[in-house]
Amino acid sequence: PFDVLVVGGGPAGAAAAVYAARKGIRTGVASERFGGQVLDTLGIENFISIKETEGPKFAHALEEHVRDYDVDIMNLQRAKSLQSQDGMIEIELESGARLKSRSVIISTGARWRNINVPGEHEYKNKGVAYCPHCDGPLFKGKRVAVIGGGNSGVEAAIDLAGIVGHVTLIEFDKQLRADAVLQRKLLSLKNVSVHMNAQTTEITGDGQKVNGLVYKDRVSGESHTVPLEGVFVQIGLVPNTDWLKGTVELSKHGEIVVDAKGQTSLPGVFAAGDATTVPYKQIIIAAGEGAKAALSAFDHLIRTSAP
Ligand code: FAD
Repeated sequence: PFDVLVVGGGPAGAAAAVYAARKGIRTGVASERFGGQVLDTLGIENFISIKETEGPKFAHALEEHVRDYDVDIMNLQRAKSLQSQDGMIEIELESGARLKSRSVIISTGARWRNINVPGEHEYKNKGVAYCPHCDGPLFKGKRVAVIGGGNSGVEAAIDLAGIVGHVTLIEFDKQLRADAVLQRKLLSLKNVSVHMNAQTTEITGDGQKVNGLVYKDRVSGESHTVPLEGVFVQIGLVPNTDWLKGTVELSKHGEIVVDAKGQTSLPGVFAAGDATTVPYKQIIIAAGEGAKAALSAFDHLIRTSAP
């Protein structure tokens, strides 16, 4: 059995594996796609000490760093369930294999919910973006839309309004769902327009990059085109935690509830990164949390005897 088994190979999992392996304990990483969301990222400019890099390059560097240590890397493996018994945790993989470990770090990350309209997929990273903290500065002085009027959409619109030229917020419902204080702030901004009852039907482009957004007014039935350079889709971040239902405590959003040490509700099971309740889903935060979870797992191991 492993001492530490990491499930998920994004920035959180990679950091956890390096920290665990450096304690000289048996460490494994099982992940579906090593690198995680970073693989789908074009430019990364906010990982401190690396001024600028590209997602796939960063993902490769994560794996290289882990391979530098004696870590059992199991790629293309999807975890299906977790069971804990007598101080031993068992992870069952889709392949049918079962892995046993004295402690587990879950770092299965999250995915942005897609709007699924024509143009979204085609123009991903070519004007279609999901993370205002990451990609906001790329649209300095330009026109963007934010799709979604919940807290994350309205926060994104407020954030972007300080950087870009103009923000159009598109909300499907007849009202915004964000907190009142955010709505007041939003409506006070001069370079923001808000469209309610607006259903996004298409993101248009010139073949290279985004040049507009088409929405249907759900009251009049009329279609409108907004010329712009960027679209931020803010209709939810979904944690990859379905496989954990009924085992560790999840928040109402499906995030794994962790304490300040990364401990979950189940002894010996820790979690880190976008899959958890820790706020602000960013690479540097996920990596820091992964390191923390590994140190907590080590702390757990030295306090419990091997069964
Ligand atoms: P993830 O990166 O999501 O990794 C999860 C890992 O778990 C993957 O290996 C996945 O295959 C695996 N996995 C999932 N389910 C299972 C399962 N059941 N069994 C086994 N393995 C599983 N952040 C920044 O800081 N700067 C940026 O510029 C930036 N740009 C971004 C651009 C885009 C397009 C996107 C989508 C995100 C961006 N982010 C950026 C956010 C950043 O990528 C995430 O915060 C970060 O990757 C989270 O790391 P993580 O390790 O928690 O999860």
